[in-house]
Amino acid sequence: NADMAMYSAKKSGKRNYHFFNKALQKKALYKMSIEEGLDTAISKEQFVLHYQPVFSFDSNKLCCYEALIRWNHPREGLLYPERFIGIAEESGKIKDIGYWVIQEVCDVIKMRQLHTGDSYRVAVNLSPRQFNDPDLLENIRRIILNVGIDARSLEIEITESTLMENVESAIHTLHQFKELGITVAIDDFGTGYSSLAMLKRLPVDKLKIDRSFVKDLSSNNSDQKIVQALISMAHTLQISVIAEGIETQEQFNLLQQYGCDFGQGYLFSKPVPITELNEAMSTVI
Ligand code: C2E
Ligand code: MG
Ligand code: MG
Ligand code: MG
Repeated sequence: NADMAMYSAKKSGKRNYHFFNKALQKKALYKMSIEEGLDTAISKEQFVLHYQPVFSFDSNKLCCYEALIRWNHPREGLLYPERFIGIAEESGKIKDIGYWVIQEVCDVIKMRQLHTGDSYRVAVNLSPRQFNDPDLLENIRRIILNVGIDARSLEIEITESTLMENVESAIHTLHQFKELGITVAIDDFGTGYSSLAMLKRLPVDKLKIDRSFVKDLSSNNSDQKIVQALISMAHTLQISVIAEGIETQEQFNLLQQYGCDFGQGYLFSKPVPITELNEAMSTVI
């Protein structure tokens, strides 16, 4: 927090103040340059989507994928979302970026249907500001119609904390997605303090267990208990479960034993450019 840093810097003397001031200035300048760059990133075609396959424990196959944005920045190189999504969200630029992502994903779904006959579903992430955009549904409906794909090929991921911001309106929006035929997943589940009572009211198809619960699964007994409880709770509500961040065979074995439905992680594949997707999808573990 900038004010706090400034305050403690002031307290600890002029030298430090100068140092912190410079550091803050540098940070502010960096943020400004990123924000400025975001203005033209779409028109200069600097964004690219990578796709990470999702594994189905039931069919023992990769079954669908998640689109994850990257930015080919002219000076900074390939930027991952944590470097710019927050800034895009704050400035409102996330809306245009979000529609670019949805358009791109729908085009890719269409193209793959035409050329490879594959009909894997693709998931896109929606940030809070996108999710609360009153035109969101109408715009998605129009994109789907224009491209000419089945709405069932599309899945949206919304974080648990976004849904908790305004539960009533979230429930309303999710119902509209479901009516369109779009699959709905709660992302990063377990980090946003929603209750069982809340989950019961949310019209969602999937729940993605946050990576932080999977990370130490092999050694951490409480994580094992939490993950088992989340899976049985979701199944009681007829919601299927994806575990994020599976990196080891031990994690895989435990999740399979717990009855987890889907898994995602480096064990199966990292997110890859569309051109490398066929290879990733045909690799059977
Ligand atoms: P997320 O939706 O929870 O995506 C999962 C993140 O975990 C991705 O990071 C993915 O590359 C990474 N990951 C997947 N498997 C593993 C694993 O086995 N180990 C580890 N350590 N990491 C793994 P990424 O691509 O950097 O994306 C970060 C976040 O940025 C995403 O989290 C999502 O919230 C956001 N994001 C990505 N693309 C978009 C987008 O198009 N729009 C919006 N609004 N947000 C996006
Ligand atoms: Mg996601
Ligand atoms: Mg996630
Ligand atoms: Mg996550």
